[in-house]
Amino acid sequence: MENVLVIKGHFMFTPTPETFAVYENSCLVCVDGKIEGIYPTLPDRFKGGTVHDYGNRLVIPGFVDLHLHAAQFLQCGIGMTHRLLDWLGDYTFDLERRFQDRGFAREAYTCFADKLLACGTLRACIFASSSTAGTQELFEVLKEKGIGAYVGKVNMDTNAPDFILETTQASLEGTKYLIETYGDEQRVKPIITPRFAPTSTQALLKGLGDLAVKYQLPVQSHLAENPDEIQWVRNLFPGAKNYSDVYFKHNLFGQTKTVMAHGIFLEAEERALVKQMDLMLAHCPDSNINVRSGIMPVRSYLDMGIRVGLGSDIGGGHKIGLNEAMVRAIQLSKILNLANGELNPLSVSEAFYMGTKSGGSFFGKTGSFEKDFWFDALVLEDDVMIANRYSPKDRLEKFIHTGDDRNICARYVEGEKL
Ligand SMILES: [Zn+2]
Repeated sequence: MENVLVIKGHFMFTPTPETFAVYENSCLVCVDGKIEGIYPTLPDRFKGGTVHDYGNRLVIPGFVDLHLHAAQFLQCGIGMTHRLLDWLGDYTFDLERRFQDRGFAREAYTCFADKLLACGTLRACIFASSSTAGTQELFEVLKEKGIGAYVGKVNMDTNAPDFILETTQASLEGTKYLIETYGDEQRVKPIITPRFAPTSTQALLKGLGDLAVKYQLPVQSHLAENPDEIQWVRNLFPGAKNYSDVYFKHNLFGQTKTVMAHGIFLEAEERALVKQMDLMLAHCPDSNINVRSGIMPVRSYLDMGIRVGLGSDIGGGHKIGLNEAMVRAIQLSKILNLANGELNPLSVSEAFYMGTKSGGSFFGKTGSFEKDFWFDALVLEDDVMIANRYSPKDRLEKFIHTGDDRNICARYVEGEKL
């Protein structure tokens, strides 16, 4: 017996980046968690299904965060006068060390997951810490909450304080253990996660690439975030053509599905490789500004046909709500436009697309309300005066710019109300 769910309300989503699709006062039908269609009136064949009537409220796709660090959630907003490499050394590594303690990990990851879900992120690519036991707690917490995620134990075996490093062998064995424990999960799955090239030996990168290929697992890491970091990579890997080549040579650059955070300073050859290997880039505007890395030339990447999604990059980013990342992405694109009039700023629909359908494509069919997509959705609650005065499109634009978890009154993942 199939499970029919009927949602009533105003539906908005972005099938393409250019514009919002708007269905006012309509019925969305989902069957076994997947969208069947949106209808002005409910077809007879679906009568008898469960109805959730949201009246005058907006229903939008759930947010997809392509890059954030669960083990840094507690430090959000702290150390924001530092630049990337100092910030890691002075704040981040010491906090991540605490996640070797399972009790601490469970408590901190529960705070993280509750806030993530409250703010409307229903799918995410998440870095945990280098602790295998701590990362296992994150898998368990996310499973309990119902959030869809790729979770990575952070692999690092060099160039960081000893208290957070593992031997190459321990790092690979811990990763393999998590793959074997969680590889068959439906909603919370493992992802290969070298922290970034500088904290990896060649042996570690090779071992991780081998695991990605053997188990056909996705990969996430950091790429070309900051000029000092890029110079460091050049010094550490003199045989590589560029930063991207360090990953590419080790089967960690699109040989399986790959998302790289930042990619702000890519050489022409690297941009071409990103496109050729169909990589996803995670644009993390808050974090790029907070630790003064730079501004991603998003418009140039989109014009090339490179796939770009959004990341909050907690705790380099200070706000976990992905609508905040949409706004910051638009603002930074306006700054680039002021410097170079040929780079048109991002529109609201483009930013929304990046944070829903584009990012969602990393997880399969999610982030839109087209047929056969998973019904991953948020229901928005406006102030009555706003709801009565403005069109759905204006209301959504207002939510993106000014809304937060208090404006989200229901969340669905795969048709299941959380
Ligand atoms: Zn990051």
